[in-house]
Amino acid sequence: MTISIDHYRLIKKELTEKHVTLVAVSKIQSFEKIKALNGLGERNFGENYVQELVQKQELLKHLNLNWHFIGHLQTNKVKYIAPFIHLIQSVDSLKLVKEINKEGRKISRIIPCLLQVYIAKEETKYGLDEAELNEIMQIYSSGELPNVSINGLMGMASFSNNKKIIRAEFLDLKRMYSQFSEFQILSMGMSGDYKLAIKCGSNMVRIGSSIFGARK
Ligand SMILES: *Cc1c(COP(=O)(O)O)cnc(C)c1O
Repeated sequence: MTISIDHYRLIKKELTEKHVTLVAVSKIQSFEKIKALNGLGERNFGENYVQELVQKQELLKHLNLNWHFIGHLQTNKVKYIAPFIHLIQSVDSLKLVKEINKEGRKISRIIPCLLQVYIAKEETKYGLDEAELNEIMQIYSSGELPNVSINGLMGMASFSNNKKIIRAEFLDLKRMYSQFSEFQILSMGMSGDYKLAIKCGSNMVRIGSSIFGARK
């Protein structure tokens, strides 16, 4: 299996025209595919698993890629990615953001983060509710977390074919995003729903299978 170069070029062109940043989601995909995509000019890659990310980062260090963490992050694993991570998109608890701050302080780094907000109807998805989001932002605004930079929000819509439901969820996230004037990144949209996400205000999409082919 190879990457879908035509798909990548088409998606990239569409996103560039709309000023939307692409994160190529490379979880479970090989080093070779990442290298091939980087050869076409891609620099932003998203990963869900710490061990896999650390291995890939180590092996591909010379390429200077921007690694995004988009999976559920356990507090005891923050230290492994803190030195190099470009953006932790999946901050889903106060405990986690405090740990990222602590690890950032140890290495004198301000670690860029997004808060992951729970917008789907499904029980299985991680994320903050609106009250927790507001609580973290209040603590952050008081200057208590100087070694993190909270740059925006990330969310995943329900796994559904019903566009009305997905649209309502994206618009809800956009509403929360708009309440914080300091935010710059609204990360929503994946292979199946990124066009709708952009219509609802997304400026960063995370696309895996459309570019890399289906994951095994
Ligand atoms: C896997 C994953 C994606 C990419 O999904 P595709 O449907 O393959 O585009 C995007 N965001 C998150 C959080 C993911 O875990």
